[in-house]
Amino acid sequence: MLSVEELLKRRKIPYSDEQQARIKKAYRFAQEAHQGQKRASGDDYFLHCVEAAKTLVQMGLGSITVSAALLHDVYEDTEVSLEEIRKEFGKDIAFIVEGVSKLSKVQLKGSDDDYYLNNLQKMFLAMAADIRVILIKLADRLHNMQTLSALPREKQQRIAKETMEIFVPIANRLGIGEIKGQLEDLCFKYLDSRNYQYVVDLRKKTHPLKEKYVEEVIKTLKKKLKEEDIDFLDVHGRVKHYYSLFNKLQRYDNDIEKIYDLVAVRIVVPKVVDCYEALGVVHKNFRPLIGRIKDYISLPKPNGYKSIHTTIFAPQGKIVEVQIRTEKMHDEAEYGIAAHWIYDQSKNTGWKDFIFRDKHKPKVPNEEIGWVKQLKEWHRQSGGGTDEFWKSLKIDFFQNHIFVFTPNGDVVELPEGATPIDFAYKIHSDVGHRTSGVKVNGKMSALDTILENGDLVEVITIKNKKLPSRDWLNFVKTAQAKDRIKHILRKNGVEVV
Ligand code: MN
Repeated sequence: MLSVEELLKRRKIPYSDEQQARIKKAYRFAQEAHQGQKRASGDDYFLHCVEAAKTLVQMGLGSITVSAALLHDVYEDTEVSLEEIRKEFGKDIAFIVEGVSKLSKVQLKGSDDDYYLNNLQKMFLAMAADIRVILIKLADRLHNMQTLSALPREKQQRIAKETMEIFVPIANRLGIGEIKGQLEDLCFKYLDSRNYQYVVDLRKKTHPLKEKYVEEVIKTLKKKLKEEDIDFLDVHGRVKHYYSLFNKLQRYDNDIEKIYDLVAVRIVVPKVVDCYEALGVVHKNFRPLIGRIKDYISLPKPNGYKSIHTTIFAPQGKIVEVQIRTEKMHDEAEYGIAAHWIYDQSKNTGWKDFIFRDKHKPKVPNEEIGWVKQLKEWHRQSGGGTDEFWKSLKIDFFQNHIFVFTPNGDVVELPEGATPIDFAYKIHSDVGHRTSGVKVNGKMSALDTILENGDLVEVITIKNKKLPSRDWLNFVKTAQAKDRIKHILRKNGVEVV
């Protein structure tokens, strides 16, 4: 088990003395409280708390979150009361511990679907209250999955399924690629062990990181970047996670030779402009594959992922993907929402300029996770609670997303399959209500057109049009649009189902 000193050392940026003192106190308190308790694996119970905390320390989270992680099972599983936690550690930590404890009380009755919705509902409410509850829950779940072999088979299946259905999508949506990848691989192992073993063996056989051609690409790139005087922090290789490799294999006739990003070479640079310069160096030295250059910096992926990807011909006729990103993009890709917390949004220069917000009231960090705020607002407006609300939320939230543009170049995020009406309601209810036509990429289009990533959408409104068409309900995709349309129609005495 990690000592508290070892735990503290896992953070890239050291904790202040005050922060260290808080974490040390929580460590001792939780250790004491769990004294004598064991896990199903036979380990000391407290090991679980330390492991969960370790994940969060590595993500760079602050002392409140890490302390709450150390204490996360104290209220649930020991004699200690919430009042006592509040007295010892303050109301923020007590609030988070309470939130985590509430989440672990899942109802097991009802159909699969009820169970799922109920779970999801709890996660969202907790997320809206304080996102740190969910971060701890993810770290908690990661360790539970890592130690799942100690449980009976039936329980393994249930927990793995729940993890895949609820925790993986949430980690994905929060942009925490590192946890998402690990959770997915662990679920894969329990839910589909045959295919898991197949992929593990396959990847072992190819040993991608030990291959000469990868080493050569890395060596060449380091040398050339230096020669061209381009700043870089690191050039390294990464291997694809098992589950995502398996999914990709299925799309490529199980031919591992066709998976170009089995191993990717990553170039990490200080500034955005260095990314583009580095790309130039890559292409100058290795011929790129046509049509494989993706600039996710100017057009990020729906979960906020940013990087430049290009695929090149490496030595020995091999094909390798190269990913170029800044250090900040790298941390955001691995740690998602947690990284936003740490980087000062006004200075995009990296860890050196971070401002740690530990001492302040837990604010939802910034507009990049505006959807958390939106969720809250939307839940309030619709009165929450209804099955319909939760079902449509599932669609809006977990579906793949696309980005489209307003005529001013603003980016609007929509779920896949969304129409111009969804777009209009996303802008504003009044815009939605008054929509009479739409131009997509400059061409007049039908209101039920399925929008595509990168479309430029211009809504034409009529000033004195008051009510939307009831027919729109047949094709709109987002709960937001559906909700608003029904609301105003009902208000004006139009009957809607
Ligand atoms: Mn736990």
